[in-house]
Amino acid sequence: MSPEQLRPLQEEKFSKQMDYVWKNSAFYQKKFKEQGIGRGDIRSLEDLPRLPFTEKDELRKSQEEHPPLGFHCAVPMKKIIRIHSSSGTTGIPTFVGITRHDHKVWTEITARSLFSKSVRKTDVLIHAVGLTFFVGGLPVKDATEYIGATFVPIGTGASDRVVMTAKRLQANAIHCTPSYALYLADYVRKKQSMQPSELGFKKLVVGAEPGGGVPAIKQRLQEDFQALVSEGMGNSDAAPIIFGECPAQQGMHFCAQEYISCELIGPDSGKVIEMKDRAEGELVYTLLDRECCPVVRFRTRDRIVVFTDPCECGRTSFRIRCIGRTDDMLILLGVNVFPSAVKDVITSFRPRTTGDMLILLDKPGPGVEPPLKIQAEYTQGQQNLNALKKELEEALRDKLVFKANVELLPEGTLPRFEMKAKLIKKLYEE
Ligand SMILES: [Zn+2]
Repeated sequence: MSPEQLRPLQEEKFSKQMDYVWKNSAFYQKKFKEQGIGRGDIRSLEDLPRLPFTEKDELRKSQEEHPPLGFHCAVPMKKIIRIHSSSGTTGIPTFVGITRHDHKVWTEITARSLFSKSVRKTDVLIHAVGLTFFVGGLPVKDATEYIGATFVPIGTGASDRVVMTAKRLQANAIHCTPSYALYLADYVRKKQSMQPSELGFKKLVVGAEPGGGVPAIKQRLQEDFQALVSEGMGNSDAAPIIFGECPAQQGMHFCAQEYISCELIGPDSGKVIEMKDRAEGELVYTLLDRECCPVVRFRTRDRIVVFTDPCECGRTSFRIRCIGRTDDMLILLGVNVFPSAVKDVITSFRPRTTGDMLILLDKPGPGVEPPLKIQAEYTQGQQNLNALKKELEEALRDKLVFKANVELLPEGTLPRFEMKAKLIKKLYEE
């Protein structure tokens, strides 16, 4: 369906959801009343900008004040069939419940995203992500099985089992974080004396962090595994995987057409930005079909670029690329720097660097006095380290417009991450 054909369906769902929220969510009843907004003021999606934003901190506070699930929980516990937890990238994790209906919606959206990421019923997919609490766990199992593909739950911290299972079951796909895929490539080369491509994965279904969309990381993974890398993105307060990248690899397609309404806003101004090709801003979600924890104008802190030109795969939805999280962003003399972009530059120097790196912060961000301190690993046998340091610093200045001070460390010095990679090390007490 074209976006124009979809609109009436979205409007119908939005109207129904607004009735539901006004009737059942104590959190929004209070919030809207404080703003002097009545149900009658919101007639269509066009009126959405009249409603206030919802911040993650508000949901956290709502849950602390009104356990177990908060004032924003709109159903009694007997209707809730499962409780997940947000990954807690910032602050204390929050719980997110789903009803039987929400479960159906989550499965549909996640399955569409996985299908967009090339998962098919003929695939045998190894799940090398945690199954507990995290929305990238059980909901991905449900969606994989819904497609009809074969789900093999291995979890994290079991690389030997991944290798053994991949061979014995002839698994052709793996679901993991980009950090884990990098780790696994390293692991099989060093511990199993084999090439990552010998594992036989043709599809690397990645998500939970921006790495899959970082060009140098994607390229490295595709070469290492001789496989298609497709990235996805979701949000524990909205749906497990909302965007999925198709084989054209021109960004991730939106896959929650009639379930979530997306807005793009200026991260500082909060003003709505038109979702046109190449527009950049923060992504905001309004759920259109949620019983347990409906959220309205939820600020994701995900900084994205939008693409609306037609995709060769034929899907009509807009696509996005996630640049990073607003929370991770650093500002050097007025220039925005995302750690994932720094990693992209360092990784592009492979095989002279390993691609592993850390940004060192003396003081809390986002403002940082240049030069930005970065530790990066060089690979064994590098002769002229001074030249490499200089080239890295020049490349960072050319591509990202900031002054860096790169400290080169021997291969294997920096920590490896099996889940989400930490790219920043705080040298100060929090
Ligand atoms: Zn496409």
